[in-house]
Amino acid sequence: MTFDNLQLIEPILKALKSEGYEVPTPIQQQAIPVVLQGRDLLGCAQTGTGKTAAFSVPILQLLSKTKYQPKNHRVIHSLILTPTRELAIQIGESIEAYGKYTDLKHTVIFGGVSQLAQTNALKKGIDILVATPGRLLDLMGQGFIDLKHLQIFVLDEADRMLDMGFIHDVKKVIAKIPHQRQTLFFSATMPTEIQKLANTILTDPVKVEV
Ligand code: AMP
Repeated sequence: MTFDNLQLIEPILKALKSEGYEVPTPIQQQAIPVVLQGRDLLGCAQTGTGKTAAFSVPILQLLSKTKYQPKNHRVIHSLILTPTRELAIQIGESIEAYGKYTDLKHTVIFGGVSQLAQTNALKKGIDILVATPGRLLDLMGQGFIDLKHLQIFVLDEADRMLDMGFIHDVKKVIAKIPHQRQTLFFSATMPTEIQKLANTILTDPVKVEV
């Protein structure tokens, strides 16, 4: 199995090759086709398994079909919610790398720093937003973020959201995004509360465990 077997578009294959990726990891082999089909996904996987590419690559492919007219503003089509600033930055770097030959734009927002650079990036228009829950709610409350065109929602490290006390904020975010969407849910462990959350926000998910 190579990335060539996953029916990826040329700009993404080229980017993966330039990263030195040849063989998809088990989570990538299983998740990429499922996400490309538009299905919801429940992924039980830890950091280090290649889960970032497992969701970023098919999201970039699905969204790169969106064609923009010069006068059209970009709207946020995908939101990736992750618990920490470090993870948010890493995911942003991965999207940058895998999407470098697409015309998609993304930005990363997290707390603990001035919001000015983040709101400036948002104002320019982006397709993909990577965020931690607190700063996301804050900027949504201030009217800087419109999620009404959201198509693909990723909840990354759901169990860590719970451990870090962010689950209430996560639920607030979920209450504010469109119901009609594709949802990708990742967690290394499945405590009862996380299983319940998965059951309420996923529709007929494909379960992938590595
Ligand atoms: P992640 O689990 O997404 O944090 O990825 C862990 C590390 O594996 C990162 O440094 C990735 O760049 C790398 N990686 C992910 N997928 C592949 C792959 N298919 N081939 C080689 N390296 C990979």
